Amino acid sequence: MTSDIHKFDTLLVANRGEIACRVMRTARTMGLRTVAVYSDADASARHVRQADEAVRIGPAAARESYLKIDAVVSAAQRTGAGAIHPGYGFLSENGAFVEALDQAGIVFVGPPASAIAAMGDKSAAKARMANAGVPLVPGYHGDDQDDARLKAEADTISYPVLLKASRGGGGKGMRVVESGENFQAALDGCRRESQAAFGDTRMLIEKYLTQPRHVEVQVFCDSHGNGVYLFERDCSVQRRHQKVLEEAPAPGMTAPLRREMGEAAVRAAKEIGYVGAGTVEFLLDFSQGQDGSFYFMEMNTRLQVEHPVTEMITGQDLVEWQLRVAMGETLPVAQDELTITGHSFEARLYAEDPELDFLPATGTLTRFAMDLEGAGLNPKRVRLDSGVETGDAVSMHYDPMLAKLIVHGDDRAQALATLNRALAALDVQGVVTNRAFLQRLATHPGFRDAELDTRFIERHDATLFAPRLYSIEDYASAALVGLNQLAHECESDSPWDRHDGFRLNAPHTIRIALCDPAYAQDEDDSEAVVVVEGARERDDALWTLTIGDATLTASLQPLAGDAVAVTLDGHRRRLQARRDGNVVVMVDPRGETRLFWRRIDAIDHGHHEAESTLTAPMHGTVVALLVEPGAHVEKGIPLMVMEAMKMEHTMSAPADGHVESFHFQAGDTVGQGDVLLEFAIKE
Ligand code: ADP
Repeated sequence: MTSDIHKFDTLLVANRGEIACRVMRTARTMGLRTVAVYSDADASARHVRQADEAVRIGPAAARESYLKIDAVVSAAQRTGAGAIHPGYGFLSENGAFVEALDQAGIVFVGPPASAIAAMGDKSAAKARMANAGVPLVPGYHGDDQDDARLKAEADTISYPVLLKASRGGGGKGMRVVESGENFQAALDGCRRESQAAFGDTRMLIEKYLTQPRHVEVQVFCDSHGNGVYLFERDCSVQRRHQKVLEEAPAPGMTAPLRREMGEAAVRAAKEIGYVGAGTVEFLLDFSQGQDGSFYFMEMNTRLQVEHPVTEMITGQDLVEWQLRVAMGETLPVAQDELTITGHSFEARLYAEDPELDFLPATGTLTRFAMDLEGAGLNPKRVRLDSGVETGDAVSMHYDPMLAKLIVHGDDRAQALATLNRALAALDVQGVVTNRAFLQRLATHPGFRDAELDTRFIERHDATLFAPRLYSIEDYASAALVGLNQLAHECESDSPWDRHDGFRLNAPHTIRIALCDPAYAQDEDDSEAVVVVEGARERDDALWTLTIGDATLTASLQPLAGDAVAVTLDGHRRRLQARRDGNVVVMVDPRGETRLFWRRIDAIDHGHHEAESTLTAPMHGTVVALLVEPGAHVEKGIPLMVMEAMKMEHTMSAPADGHVESFHFQAGDTVGQGDVLLEFAIKE
């Protein structure tokens, strides 16, 4: 049933990044024309490139562009867009925006403003939920905000309790209170924070659950009074209240509990006159026994970041449902037609550096790709929802989430194995990401065994952030990967074709020192030295590697992209591997290995060529001049340092004497064979 009032053939997506791309993908398959909006920072972003039309809405800052209601509305009017999908974040839960669209006669793909308002205040929302028979965490959400009254309520609930700002969000104005003595100080602190952030000091109090899981239910309502739930997602793996890994269905969920939670979620939605896609978040507590108790936390009145895991297990396209509901149609299926097939995970790839306390990272993605076939992955089981492509810039203006990796398996174990394989196949270069951290999480025994709760990351801090231990195989592989890249650099750089200073094709001994990149600047003895001997003949040479007491026969075969196969004593392993500056990065489904790589067989040309002129052994850069011209030096004293092929070469005095002149300065580029300096040998 479609009413004409809701008809539209053009959809504007008031968002950016992966969600804008994802929404437009479905819109296109439904035959809709797509319009993107963009800030100056996004003029050539992926979502703009994918849209049929795009309109500039302002400068980079979100509050001057993606959050500007009038700019978005006028972009819709200018392009004849009959509807706007808000994505998540930005204007997605902004009642004023919905009202502005109503006035302009543009369809909002989402709930009515009244439903957004009903869930905007935590205390008011709890009162309505209690009314609808949705279970709440034991607590107080009343109007009496007198200090003594709040303290008395906390005493009754019994400690620990959680103080929450009624108007709060994003974890602000929220504190755990362990005992009555600390109550007043915590209350004062929360009020101050809430006043600063939300301009409101009202508080609610809840029993603090010590090991809850975050389990949320996807609901859907149409404008004809129908509502269904599309089962649950477990989003317990969070870092500072931010979800990192999500899955559906929730491990350990029983059919009766699923039905009970699902029905409670639909009641919650109907209570507030909900229309469209929504998520009812619950805390699920198994501490009182096998059955599990669940408590309403909040309702998100939009499409969630993690909606794809629900799509994977139900086979439904939630964005299509959203658009159909917005067009006035009824829900496409009834509750008893929905079933769960298999298991799904989602991992959020952020441009951030886990080594620097997850500081957002910026830069240009020199490579962003995933070779499904090479990694033996079934394209039907792996989905990459991405806002970026190779060559795109990652700026500091917006959320650092680059993409979401979503996988499906027949069961949880199979889905998890696929997730680990897919994480390893993701080839991201140029911008630091949390991929290695995601791999640590997804390969963690506690996660494998589904020992989930919202403090999972905190609880496993020691193992998740433990320094990496390296095996002989890691050192051996890294030594070869670094050498292989060096050889390729030599081949592609024409001066090297003429004169191979590296002499890969001749029998040769090369020494590589490797250590944890975190200690690369230290004078320490944690280094491993790999002695590489052998001759390279095309790509199939056999090398002999010596590491301490161990000797290995090794070879390296380049595969597609950055993939290589390293064979050590007849054991072949496939890796994504590259050298990033001085760090070799190797990724496989068990995780990421990074090793600082350095050649230490520095050729001391001073000793080898006791000539009065010193020539550059290879094309490179002068790093430093170490002596003053004219100053007397003894034989063997370092005169000059140059860098080539990622290693330093020291030119030493060939005999006692003095430098008459240097022909280059620090920073100059020198060609192979160039005379570097004039040296006068002492008579
Ligand atoms: P916000 O709106 O600020 O994000 P929420 O009420 O959604 O606040 O809670 C955020 C997170 O805090 C939840 O995902 C959960 O991990 C934790 N949390 C909330 N309420 C409780 C509680 N009563 N007991 C234990 N943890 C809680």
